[in-house]
Amino acid sequence: MFSPDWIVVGAGFTGATLAERIGSALQQRVLVIDRRDHAGGNAFDYPGPYDILVHKYGPHIFHTNSKKIWDYLSRFTEWRPYFHHVLAHVDGRYTPIPFNLNTLNDLFPLGMAATITSSLVETYGYGKKVPILQMRDAQNEQLRFLADYVYRKVFENYTMKQWNLRPEQLDSSVSARVPIHISRDDRYFQDTYQAMPARGYTDLFKRMLTHENIRVSTSTDYDSIDGLYPNARVIFTGPIDEYFRYEDGALPYRSIRFRMFEQETAYAQPVGTVNYPNEFDFTRITEFKHLTGQTAPGTVCVEEYSEAYVPGKNEPYYPIPTEDTASALRPYQERARELRGKVWFAGRLGDYAYYNMDQATGRALALFEKELSVLR
Ligand code: FAD
Ligand code: UDP
Repeated sequence: MFSPDWIVVGAGFTGATLAERIGSALQQRVLVIDRRDHAGGNAFDYPGPYDILVHKYGPHIFHTNSKKIWDYLSRFTEWRPYFHHVLAHVDGRYTPIPFNLNTLNDLFPLGMAATITSSLVETYGYGKKVPILQMRDAQNEQLRFLADYVYRKVFENYTMKQWNLRPEQLDSSVSARVPIHISRDDRYFQDTYQAMPARGYTDLFKRMLTHENIRVSTSTDYDSIDGLYPNARVIFTGPIDEYFRYEDGALPYRSIRFRMFEQETAYAQPVGTVNYPNEFDFTRITEFKHLTGQTAPGTVCVEEYSEAYVPGKNEPYYPIPTEDTASALRPYQERARELRGKVWFAGRLGDYAYYNMDQATGRALALFEKELSVLR
């Protein structure tokens, strides 16, 4: 009979990293549970039509500037180098995003593009990245014109679709994820390390969680085992408000409805993702074979339709970073502090933080090193 020292709730990047560290570095027994019927959290992938590896919960591209995180995950996967390119449909053209000097040349008459380029380089410096909300405050009239144009054509409607909020109602870090690039580098991410796990995320998770000290139980909700292992410590990576039964009020999340479709063509679009800020109800279309590098006579794509999270109906994919949610989170953070030593919260839902995969992994490694590795 497996008697765990630890219960890890959630088998995504956060839970898998903590389980792996506790199982192999601490040599303690871990039971990992997930209410879904698979491990991997939102990064789960599986072979779909034409054997193309599809991401069930939307496209996941790995990128990080942290050598430490890269080296850690590299123990569990080989990588396929991949630079993600995104086009946005603006003014009837498919043009590179993040907005950069190529986009400027693509959308504006030559002379005008040259003048604005000079102003950008003089004001901010070549190679700099400027968040749209910052550029809107520029002294230079041409730059304010550009900022207003990019705001209206790229950010305003996309952000309304994605969050049902305007860019300035969200924490400024959200639109700053996709800053204006004063260069011709039109890769979506500019991190030092950018790649896809060579055999996919599900394979990576399998290798992280295959250990004599780790058991994984899928289709298992925390409620169904709560109280079964009274001496086990708990790491909870689900929604923090759900853990506390919404006693301080429900936190809001955005959910997404994914519509997968296949086509009998080699490629449906020229790059991995095309954003549609201004048309259609979906925000973007991603074609998986660009990400995986597979070749096949057909192709598989996914459209993303953002919607409000309704418990029991859909999934809480995105915490919503605003001043109001930061205040609403505080009583839960206080409750979490009181439980520390017995229960820890971490991850995109446990911390209620808009983490990328590398940040979720980094947060888990830091929690392990600072607090858990000293426990016996
Ligand atoms: P999750 O992956 O959400 O895992 C939490 C797990 O806990 C879930 O599997 C859930 O089922 C389980 N759970 C919750 N409550 C319970 C309970 N009570 N009992 C049992 N199990 C429970 N990041 C990138 O770096 N690059 C990208 O390109 C990227 N694209 C994304 C696209 C989309 C559409 C989304 C939604 C996210 C994207 N991300 C991307 C972010 C990435 O998904 C997260 O950073 C990462 O998955 C967070 O891992 P996690 O373990 O914290 O949470
Ligand atoms: N965004 C936008 N238009 C775009 C791309 C991004 O308005 O063409 C804004 C939008 O608010 C979005 C945020 O920038 O939610 C972050 O974009 P990112 O692509 O990082 O979002 P994610 O991949 O996490 O959904």
